[in-house]
Amino acid sequence: MRVILIGPPGSGKGTQGDLVGNKYGYPKISTGDILRLEVQEGTPLGKKAKAAMDQGDLVSDDIVVEIVKKRILQPDCSKGYVLDGFPRNVSQAQGLEEMEGNRAEIVMNISLTEKALISRLSARRVCFRCGAVYNLLARHPKKDGLCDVCQSKLIQRQDDRPGVIKERLKVYHRQTEPLIGYYKEKKVYHRIDGEGKIEAIFDEISSILDREIILQEEVDAAR
Ligand code: AMP
Repeated sequence: MRVILIGPPGSGKGTQGDLVGNKYGYPKISTGDILRLEVQEGTPLGKKAKAAMDQGDLVSDDIVVEIVKKRILQPDCSKGYVLDGFPRNVSQAQGLEEMEGNRAEIVMNISLTEKALISRLSARRVCFRCGAVYNLLARHPKKDGLCDVCQSKLIQRQDDRPGVIKERLKVYHRQTEPLIGYYKEKKVYHRIDGEGKIEAIFDEISSILDREIILQEEVDAAR
């Protein structure tokens, strides 16, 4: 099973992706996390990706498709995996289809109002060392400005600054939203209300996934 999370930036894809990964034993693949690591380490790929990321634009399809292609070939992905932030447009979705066309998939679009997204993204802080994510409104660190896990400094992502947030939302509407129609047509699409508590949203995602996994097992058994 491949679980694809396609909500807008700030909708909670990363958090829900971790929860899904832990419960079902699927690795979470976040193209954003992989790209940020490449940028932090100053690799040639990171250097290519940085300008687009800083401005809130998408990194080129060739780069991200190649990253995902390599990652899903790892043995830990054989049973399934969760994609967080990929695909971001129809061309990437087609790239994924070419890589692994016959894997069962389920797509969850975590939806939230624009006002809530902007407020969440503006309040997000991340640990510069281990990447743990906090929110100044809802998920406070125990000590101001310091990570609970490794005590390192919390920073605001460059692309969580106001001007860049606006650009990322524009890019989402223009490039990523068309995926809704694409996956509705494939009959694998589910809309999830991202407004409630983390646990309630995860319960909804889990119940859909449990149902789909049972259905898939029945299909596999009948083959
Ligand atoms: P995220 O952490 O998912 O919000 O991603 C942060 C940034 O990484 C995005 O604004 C893009 O610049 C880049 N990025 C992440 N995933 C993709 C993708 N699938 N396609 C293109 N760019 C991506």
